[in-house]
Amino acid sequence: MFAELRFGTGRSRAVAAAAVACCALAAPALSGAASSGGGLVAPGKPKVEDVVCVRDCLGGRTATPGAFVQVKGEALDFVTRVVFRGADGPIRARYTYRTPYRVRTVVPKGALTGRPYVISGRSSSNRSPHRLRVVPRSALPEEFFPVRGRHGYGDGFGAGRGHEGTDVFAACGTPLVAAVDGRIEYRSYHAAAGNYIVIDVRNSPDDMMYAHMLKPAPVRVGQSVSAGQRVGSVGETGNAVGCHLHFEYWKGDWYGGGHPIDSEPYLRRLDRKS
Ligand SMILES: [Zn+2]
Repeated sequence: MFAELRFGTGRSRAVAAAAVACCALAAPALSGAASSGGGLVAPGKPKVEDVVCVRDCLGGRTATPGAFVQVKGEALDFVTRVVFRGADGPIRARYTYRTPYRVRTVVPKGALTGRPYVISGRSSSNRSPHRLRVVPRSALPEEFFPVRGRHGYGDGFGAGRGHEGTDVFAACGTPLVAAVDGRIEYRSYHAAAGNYIVIDVRNSPDDMMYAHMLKPAPVRVGQSVSAGQRVGSVGETGNAVGCHLHFEYWKGDWYGGGHPIDSEPYLRRLDRKS
């Protein structure tokens, strides 16, 4: 199936140059990620630095009831509850995942916009310095533009080289989200596509493919994803020149009887909405 992938064939000179650019650009992003998880912090009072939405979000700090949120900070390993503002007083939520630097929870029903705080087994509460907006689930769009940051369009469909997708350029590390609800059908690495995923669109025979992602996607094959859910970051793995998302929209199965269509009108429509 992969023999038919056509990413910039016959551009070896440009590709060689890109390989150098790739590594110089990728290094700071990788070292940043490593430092956030490394090192030992003496146990003590929990310090909440931020609360960000990771699933069923309208933005980094805009969530809905039922959304997955992540508390970021230090000394969070004894946190037992994340507390949200509610109409009749604070609402306590259990954590679903916990490390010294991250606590995940689900925004409880009835939670209102406010600054969540944590209750720790060994210390008093610590409140986020940032406000988390909570909006009704009806405010969630059904579709999201996949690149969540400043971006510009590159090569479109065809492009004189059998290009099967639309290239959207953005800084390496820019978050990528699922455009629609669906299920992860493939998650792999390919010499041309780099780190890629294919999303099987819910209630549709169609597929969407994301290529050149910075790292292997933080999702697994078979997993359901909701529109707006983080599925990776813009990168330039594989045969890519510059950091960009290569996005394909297939009518039917990706390399399984379907065919790609020009995805640019679809992307531009989402781009105007979200
Ligand atoms: Zn492309």
